[in-house]
Amino acid sequence: MEQSHECPMTTKDVSLQELREKLAEFASVRGWDQFHSPRNLLLALVGEVGELSEIFQWKGEVARGLPNWSSDDKEHLEEEISDVLLYLVRLADVCGLDLGQAALTKIIKNAQKYPVKHQKY
Ligand SMILES: [Mg+2]
Repeated sequence: MEQSHECPMTTKDVSLQELREKLAEFASVRGWDQFHSPRNLLLALVGEVGELSEIFQWKGEVARGLPNWSSDDKEHLEEEISDVLLYLVRLADVCGLDLGQAALTKIIKNAQKYPVKHQKY
């Protein structure tokens, strides 16, 4: 897939484990572990969800793939959606959760709750 802008880092599949480790290191070397309580991280996550929401605010319905967005707008979206992911990964980590496994388990539960045969669309 072509990148919308130049990126100095290589493009590859990134695991939640890799993100978790990078975030733990990022916080540790800055002495930020003391601030990364579950509550603080949740509030930071909610703040970032707000920043993500602002991007879509007042735009009306937006087409999939964002065909009419500028590269700057898409870069801004990448930044804010990443902030949400990073705080979510960090929150799960400090709570001692395996986010990837939890998400896979939740997909299975959702599939059981919403079986395909009951779809009405
Ligand atoms: Mg942000």
